Amino acid sequence: MNNYLEPKFNTKGQPICEICGLAYDKLLQHVSMGHGISAFDYKRRFNLNPRQGIQTAKLTTQARKRVKRNFKTVVLDNLIVKGRDTRFKKGNQHTDIEKVRMAMKKRWEAAKQQKIKTKADIVHDLISKLGR
Ligand SMILES: [Zn+2]
Repeated sequence: MNNYLEPKFNTKGQPICEICGLAYDKLLQHVSMGHGISAFDYKRRFNLNPRQGIQTAKLTTQARKRVKRNFKTVVLDNLIVKGRDTRFKKGNQHTDIEKVRMAMKKRWEAAKQQKIKTKADIVHDLISKLGR
Protein backbone atom coordinates (compact mmCIF):
# COMPACT_ATOMS: atom_id res chain seq x y z
CA MET A 1 0.00 0.00 0.00
CA ASN A 2 1.21 3.49 -0.84
CA ASN A 3 1.10 6.24 1.74
CA TYR A 4 0.88 9.21 -0.56
CA LEU A 5 1.22 12.71 0.82
CA GLU A 6 -1.55 15.26 0.28
CA PRO A 7 -0.78 18.38 -1.76
CA LYS A 8 -0.59 21.59 0.28
CA PHE A 9 -3.05 24.42 -0.38
CA ASN A 10 -2.98 28.13 0.50
CA THR A 11 -5.87 29.97 2.18
CA LYS A 12 -7.46 30.68 -1.24
CA GLY A 13 -7.60 26.92 -1.92
CA GLN A 14 -4.82 27.01 -4.52
CA PRO A 15 -2.29 24.16 -4.48
CA ILE A 16 1.26 25.18 -3.56
CA CYS A 17 4.26 24.17 -5.70
CA GLU A 18 6.75 22.04 -3.72
CA ILE A 19 9.61 23.40 -5.85
CA CYS A 20 9.18 27.19 -5.73
CA GLY A 21 6.59 27.57 -2.96
CA LEU A 22 4.17 29.62 -5.08
CA ALA A 23 0.46 28.74 -5.47
CA TYR A 24 -1.31 28.13 -8.78
CA ASP A 25 -4.89 27.21 -9.78
CA LYS A 26 -3.49 24.60 -12.19
CA LEU A 27 -0.40 23.46 -10.32
CA LEU A 28 0.57 20.63 -12.68
CA GLN A 29 0.43 22.96 -15.67
CA HIS A 30 2.76 25.32 -13.79
CA VAL A 31 5.15 22.49 -12.91
CA SER A 32 5.33 21.41 -16.54
CA MET A 33 5.69 24.90 -18.06
CA GLY A 34 7.67 26.52 -15.23
CA HIS A 35 10.00 23.77 -14.08
CA GLY A 36 10.06 21.57 -17.17
CA ILE A 37 9.01 18.33 -15.47
CA SER A 38 5.94 16.25 -16.21
CA ALA A 39 2.99 15.92 -13.83
CA PHE A 40 3.89 12.24 -13.46
CA ASP A 41 7.48 13.00 -12.43
CA TYR A 42 6.40 15.77 -10.07
CA LYS A 43 3.94 13.50 -8.28
CA ARG A 44 6.56 10.77 -8.04
CA ARG A 45 9.21 13.08 -6.68
CA PHE A 46 6.97 14.47 -3.94
CA ASN A 47 5.17 11.19 -3.24
CA LEU A 48 1.75 12.43 -4.38
CA ASN A 49 -0.99 10.14 -5.68
CA PRO A 50 -0.29 9.65 -9.43
CA ARG A 51 -3.99 9.08 -10.12
CA GLN A 52 -5.16 12.31 -8.53
CA GLY A 53 -5.24 15.78 -10.10
CA ILE A 54 -3.91 18.80 -8.24
CA GLN A 55 -5.99 21.92 -8.78
CA THR A 56 -8.43 24.24 -7.03
CA ALA A 57 -11.82 22.82 -6.01
CA LYS A 58 -13.44 25.41 -8.29
CA LEU A 59 -11.69 24.01 -11.38
CA THR A 60 -12.63 20.45 -10.39
CA THR A 61 -16.29 21.48 -10.11
CA GLN A 62 -16.14 23.25 -13.49
CA ALA A 63 -14.60 20.19 -15.14
CA ARG A 64 -17.23 17.92 -13.60
CA LYS A 65 -20.01 20.19 -14.93
CA ARG A 66 -18.41 20.13 -18.40
CA VAL A 67 -18.33 16.33 -18.42
CA LYS A 68 -21.98 16.14 -17.33
CA ARG A 69 -22.98 18.65 -20.02
CA ASN A 70 -21.16 16.59 -22.70
CA PHE A 71 -21.91 13.18 -21.17
CA LYS A 72 -22.92 11.50 -24.43
CA THR A 73 -19.68 12.40 -26.26
CA VAL A 74 -17.21 12.26 -23.36
CA VAL A 75 -18.43 9.21 -21.47
CA LEU A 76 -20.61 7.13 -23.77
CA ASP A 77 -18.86 7.61 -27.13
CA ASN A 78 -15.22 8.16 -26.11
CA LEU A 79 -14.86 6.01 -23.00
CA ILE A 80 -17.44 3.26 -23.17
CA VAL A 81 -17.82 2.66 -26.91
CA LYS A 82 -14.31 3.55 -28.23
CA GLY A 83 -12.67 2.18 -25.06
CA ARG A 84 -13.88 -1.32 -25.88
CA ASP A 85 -10.88 -1.89 -28.21
CA THR A 86 -8.23 -0.88 -25.69
CA ARG A 87 -9.76 -2.26 -22.51
CA PHE A 88 -7.78 -4.91 -20.60
CA LYS A 89 -9.06 -8.36 -21.42
CA LYS A 90 -8.89 -11.30 -19.07
CA GLY A 91 -6.08 -13.68 -20.03
CA ASN A 92 -4.10 -10.99 -21.88
CA GLN A 93 -0.63 -12.38 -22.70
CA HIS A 94 0.93 -9.18 -24.09
CA THR A 95 1.12 -7.20 -20.87
CA ASP A 96 1.63 -8.51 -17.40
CA ILE A 97 1.94 -6.74 -14.09
CA GLU A 98 5.70 -7.43 -13.82
CA LYS A 99 6.41 -5.75 -17.18
CA VAL A 100 4.32 -2.75 -16.13
CA ARG A 101 6.12 -2.57 -12.77
CA MET A 102 9.55 -2.70 -14.45
CA ALA A 103 8.59 0.05 -16.91
CA MET A 104 7.29 2.23 -14.05
CA LYS A 105 10.47 1.60 -12.04
CA LYS A 106 12.70 2.61 -14.97
CA ARG A 107 10.67 5.78 -15.45
CA TRP A 108 10.81 6.51 -11.73
CA GLU A 109 14.59 6.08 -11.66
CA ALA A 110 14.95 8.39 -14.69
CA ALA A 111 12.75 11.00 -13.00
CA LYS A 112 14.94 10.97 -9.90
CA GLN A 113 18.03 11.67 -12.03
CA GLN A 114 16.42 14.58 -13.86
CA LYS A 115 17.32 18.06 -12.68
CA ILE A 116 14.44 20.26 -11.56
CA LYS A 117 14.59 23.95 -12.38
CA THR A 118 14.53 25.92 -9.16
CA LYS A 119 13.15 29.43 -8.79
CA ALA A 120 16.75 30.71 -8.99
CA ASP A 121 17.29 28.80 -12.28
CA ILE A 122 14.12 30.30 -13.77
CA VAL A 123 15.15 33.82 -12.75
CA HIS A 124 18.67 33.20 -14.12
CA ASP A 125 17.18 31.94 -17.44
CA LEU A 126 14.95 35.02 -17.70
CA ILE A 127 17.83 37.40 -16.99
CA SER A 128 20.07 35.75 -19.59
CA LYS A 129 17.20 35.89 -22.16
CA LEU A 130 16.64 39.59 -21.46
CA GLY A 131 20.36 40.24 -21.77
CA ARG A 132 20.48 38.98 -25.37
ZN1 LIG B 1 6.93 26.06 -8.92
